[in-house]
Amino acid sequence: MPEGQINSGREGSLEAPTRHALGWQEPQFYDAGALEKELERVFDICHGCRRCFNLCNSFPTLFDLIDESKNGELGDVDKKAYWQVVDNCYLCDMCYMTKCPYVPPHPWNVDFPHLMLRAKAVKHRGGGTRWRDKVLSSTDLIGKIAGIPVIAEVDTRAVVRSVGRKVLDTVLGVHPQAPVPLYRSNTLRKQLAAQRRPAAAAQPAEGTRGKVALFATCYANRNEPQIGLDLARVFEHNGIEVALVEQENCCGMPKLELGDLQGVADLKDKNLPHLLAMIERGYDIVAPIPSCVLMFKQELPLMFPGDADLAKVREHTFDPFEYLALRHKGGLMRTDFTRPLGKIAYHVACHLRVQNIGLKTRDVLQLIPGTTVEPIERCSGHNGTYGVKREFRDMSMKIGKPVVQRVQASGADYYASDCPMAGRQIESGLQNEMPPTHPLTLLRMAYGL
Ligand code: SF4
Ligand code: SF4
Repeated sequence: MPEGQINSGREGSLEAPTRHALGWQEPQFYDAGALEKELERVFDICHGCRRCFNLCNSFPTLFDLIDESKNGELGDVDKKAYWQVVDNCYLCDMCYMTKCPYVPPHPWNVDFPHLMLRAKAVKHRGGGTRWRDKVLSSTDLIGKIAGIPVIAEVDTRAVVRSVGRKVLDTVLGVHPQAPVPLYRSNTLRKQLAAQRRPAAAAQPAEGTRGKVALFATCYANRNEPQIGLDLARVFEHNGIEVALVEQENCCGMPKLELGDLQGVADLKDKNLPHLLAMIERGYDIVAPIPSCVLMFKQELPLMFPGDADLAKVREHTFDPFEYLALRHKGGLMRTDFTRPLGKIAYHVACHLRVQNIGLKTRDVLQLIPGTTVEPIERCSGHNGTYGVKREFRDMSMKIGKPVVQRVQASGADYYASDCPMAGRQIESGLQNEMPPTHPLTLLRMAYGL
C-alpha cells in the first residue's frame, strides 16, 4: 500500500476502503475557495444519498438546509450556512467507517470526516475558534489547574460545586446538566509511581511483547484514576509488567476536534520521544481511553504519513482489551475468575468501533463464567466536548437517547463503556442512580482482585 494511506477495513463492507492521508501541509488545504468547492461537491453527493440521516446532527442540518431552500437544491443554500454542518460534526468517523459507499477507492472519493476536519482547520487558522473552545481543548492545562490540591478538594463539596457549575456555564458555556468530572490531585500517575510494580519476565505472544507502558491519558490521570489502577491490577495478574511512560502530554484529540492541527503536531512532538523510549526498552503501549489509542493508531499516522517513528508507535499501541484478547489467543490470559457478573449492557464507543479490532471487550468479558454481555453499537452523544457545550447539550442527549433506552430496557446488573465519558453521558440520561462501571473495573472485580 502506498505511503500515507491506511487500509481501514470498513465495517459492513466487502471491500476495504483506502483512507488517504489528510494532506494538511499541502498549500491548497487551507485555501478557503478550494474548501468551499469541495464542500459543495461532497454535500451534493450526500444530498443524493442521505444514508447518514440518523448518525449525528451534521447530516440532518445539511438536509434541512437543502429541503427548506427555495428550490430544494444545494445551490440555493447560503454558503455561510455550511458552517452549521461543520460545527455539528464531532469527527466520530462513523459515516466514513459504517455507511458511506463512496469512500476511496470509489472515484467520488468522499471522506466526510476529513472534509469536516479541513473546514475546522480553515476556521481555526482564520481565527474563528471561540476562546471557550480553546480552553476546553487544553486538557493538560485544565488538569493542572483543577488538580491543584486546594481546588480539587474544594470541588468535592456539593455547594461549592454548584457555584462552580454556574461559573462554568457563564464563563465557558458548559451546560449546567452536562456531566463534568471531578479533578483529582492524587493522579493516576502519582498513585502508580508510588506503588511497587512487580516486574515479571515478559512472554511475547500473538504480536504482543508481554510488558506494557501505560499512557495514562488526561482523563484517567486526573479524573478517574481508578480505571488505570484497575488496568494495572488486571495486567499484572496476567503476568504483564506495567510501567509508566516517563512523561506524557495530551494525545491531541481535543485539539484535532477543534481543527488546531499545529497544536496536534506540537503535542505529537512532545509525546513521541517518550513513547519511543519505552518501545526501545521492549514495551508495548496501552491507554485506557479509546480516543487516545485512536490518535496514535490512526489520526496521527494520517496527518504524518512519512513519519517512521510514529509508524513504530502505531505498530506497538493497543487498546487494553485488544491486548488481553491477543494474550488469550496465545494461551497467556488467566481465566481464574472468582465472581460471576450477571448481565452487562455494554456500550461500544465510536472511537473504539472505528479502530476495527472487533468487540474485544465483549469477547474478554464473556470469558467470565455466569456473565452475559449485550453490546450496544450506537453513539452515546458525548463526543469529546460536544455533549457538554450549552448549545449542543440537548442534541447530544437526543443522539444518545437510544443507548440510554437500551440500557434501561436491558435490566442489566451493570452497564459499561470503554469510554468513561460516554459512560457518564449515559448515566446523565438514566432515571436511576446507577453509575457506569468501566470494563477494566468489571474484569478486576471478576478476578476478585
Ligand atoms: S464524522 Fe461523525 S459527527 Fe462527523 S459527520 Fe460523520 S457521523 Fe457525523
Ligand atoms: S457521507 Fe456518504 S453515506 Fe453519508 S450521506 Fe454522504 S455520501 Fe451518503
